[in-house]
Amino acid sequence: MTETLLGLKRRARRMARELAATHPDAHCELDHSSPLELAVATLLSAQTTDVRVNETTPKLFARYPTAADYAAADRAELEGLLKPLGFFRAKSDALMKLGQALVDLHAGVVPNTMEALVALPGIGRKTANVILGNAFDVPGLTVDTHFQRLVTRFGWTTETDPVKIEVAVAGLIEKRDWTMFSHRVIFHGRRVCHARKPACGACTITRSCPSYGLGPKDPAVAAKLLKGPRVAELARAAGAPVPEGATSEEGASEEPAL
Ligand code: SF4
Repeated sequence: MTETLLGLKRRARRMARELAATHPDAHCELDHSSPLELAVATLLSAQTTDVRVNETTPKLFARYPTAADYAAADRAELEGLLKPLGFFRAKSDALMKLGQALVDLHAGVVPNTMEALVALPGIGRKTANVILGNAFDVPGLTVDTHFQRLVTRFGWTTETDPVKIEVAVAGLIEKRDWTMFSHRVIFHGRRVCHARKPACGACTITRSCPSYGLGPKDPAVAAKLLKGPRVAELARAAGAPVPEGATSEEGASEEPAL
């Protein structure tokens, strides 16, 4: 039976509530204490993990506390600091350009509107939404690879363009919930609904998910696929057996981030 828009909206909001209950620890996993630090960390998170970024940024933030410091950075020194992250030449270049643009256009201050953010070099809608939502409390949907995969599996949209996905999901979820909803979906993607083998039999939203069965349905098999620091809680919440040796409360996800 075809789902009506109202039916879809109700289902989407029910799933959003279930995800909130499943991932009470969902948050921005990039360490930061200012909009500039978050902008830098988000930019660096391409093609690497949040954990790696968080290992690199304390030194970086101490060495370059302002946008002007990035603009005036010694390229070789900056590249040396960013080397562990991969793509360090491109990332150094991006930070220097971003620092210069912030100095030239915004007196060194990170702006708090989508329009101004996406006009900056290296900042796309995804990064802008991360900054708006987490540094300025302006609701934003972060359409990263996890988000894109999950809302497609949820049957919420058939769009493949991230901006169109953002618009589709914006029509289903209340605006005030966008930022936290994004974190919860990303947590679910990192810990439960993996790209290759989703842990369907140990998932808390199977009842509402049309893709249930994409991964193993057997709860014992699926529970072994759960990842992250809350495997035991996730398994229990889904009514699956807790795998032997689960788990440890430390550390952010090792899955590639944005
Ligand atoms: S039921 Fe399976 S496909 Fe659906 S959200 Fe859960 S893990 Fe992902």
